[in-house]
Amino acid sequence: MAESDDRVRRAIDAIRVHVRSESDFGSDAIERAAPRPAPMASTATVVAASPETTITNEPTAPLAPSRVPAPSNEPVATSSAPARPAVDARSPAFVPRVAPLGARLGSAEARAELDRLEADVAACTLCKLHATRTCTVPGEGNASPDLLFIGEGPGEEEDRSGRPFVGRAGELLTKIIGAMGFSRETAHIANIVKCRPPGNRVPEPDEIAACQPYLMRQIVLLKPKLICTLGLPATRTILGITQGIKAVRGREFVWNDIPVIPTFHPAYLLRNPDDKPLVWQDAQTIVRRLVQLGASIPNPDALKKFKDPPPEPSA
Ligand code: SF4
Repeated sequence: MAESDDRVRRAIDAIRVHVRSESDFGSDAIERAAPRPAPMASTATVVAASPETTITNEPTAPLAPSRVPAPSNEPVATSSAPARPAVDARSPAFVPRVAPLGARLGSAEARAELDRLEADVAACTLCKLHATRTCTVPGEGNASPDLLFIGEGPGEEEDRSGRPFVGRAGELLTKIIGAMGFSRETAHIANIVKCRPPGNRVPEPDEIAACQPYLMRQIVLLKPKLICTLGLPATRTILGITQGIKAVRGREFVWNDIPVIPTFHPAYLLRNPDDKPLVWQDAQTIVRRLVQLGASIPNPDALKKFKDPPPEPSA
């Protein structure tokens, strides 16, 4: 456990959060306002896969230790909003657009660790979002996944159901995951904040920073072979890049030895369906890379629709 805690702390030290104001983006903002990185610590240097896509990050100071809660989460209220008990009961009247999740896959140890993480999140009052949430939304899926998707934060339907990506954007993400030969059960879906920002606004810097230890714990225990960040806020939170999502989508970066390939957020695709082919390209890039990394694709028949199917993994 001490080693695991140490890995979490190193992971936290390797990630920076800054948020860019809406005005920085102008009226034709790429997606939504998103965290702007501080220069990265050397442990989290981001390197693109090819010379023409190299992005260098300046070194930076790590998050102040006082802002990093222990993985066991001693709740510390940082909000002036009146605290209310965490509610983690799902609304019985709510029917998600996506099918109920089947049994959780993954090793027994990873499932137990994930249960502990979810319990800590359910009791969390570390930032002001706890005061307005209905359900915490820690994430869902395989506890030992090859592929991890990271989005921005829960919306209204996610807040009511306690599940990530269950509205229209979630339906689309479910289709994308299926087209990649995975499912919501075999992959894992998480967000950078676990409680809904009111009005579906972009999470604020203090909220992202407060929730970061949970995300880092999640990544460390899930041990994905590859992370796909969905949209600019998630991409900036993980990679600390300054570019817009259009400049980095489909390109490979590395965060703490884990390949990261950003793509558009499904909610953006609902507003901009003409960009769906770009996400399809990114999806194929991700699957090919996963195969290179030795991942087995749970539903290889899905890959027959690829323009250039990945080779069979070598035995
Ligand atoms: S968003 Fe994260 S840090 Fe804030 S209250 Fe929810 S779980 Fe805690």
